[in-house]
Amino acid sequence: MEDCVFCRIIAREIPSKKIYENEHVFAFLDILPTSKGHTLVIPKKHYQDIFDIDEGALKEVMSVGKKLAIVLRNSLGAVAMNVTNNNGAHAGQIVSHFHLHLIPRYSDDGIVMYGPRTHEKAQDHELEEIAEKIRNNT
Ligand code: AMP
Repeated sequence: MEDCVFCRIIAREIPSKKIYENEHVFAFLDILPTSKGHTLVIPKKHYQDIFDIDEGALKEVMSVGKKLAIVLRNSLGAVAMNVTNNNGAHAGQIVSHFHLHLIPRYSDDGIVMYGPRTHEKAQDHELEEIAEKIRNNT
């Protein structure tokens, strides 16, 4: 896609700190890192989000994501890893090219990913109603 920043990174029209590449997948450091080694893993073919990505491409991205999570942990001394993926502007997606975030975590890094979990415990019948709606469409 011509105006997609990640497609332009893959095409080398925009520079990036590439850390890995294969036939289907490209991985590079995030320019605004949440932590040291924050990496983005993307399919080389343009897909917007989880709703339209091809299943095979998703498997390739996840497989590389797993390998790189281990590599990042071993090479940077991370003690944990957040693996996130935003789909749609309302979910915080800024770049409309599917991507996994690998965010290495370090002891005492002070990063708050989700904030305090203050939601109330759901009622059983409400959960059952929602589960039934979803089951009917799977
Ligand atoms: P999201 O909010 O999930 O769409 O995340 C998009 C991510 O892409 C953000 O973390 C940005 O910092 C990152 N990003 C945007 N442009 C570039 C770029 N040219 N090189 C590296 N990372 C980028």
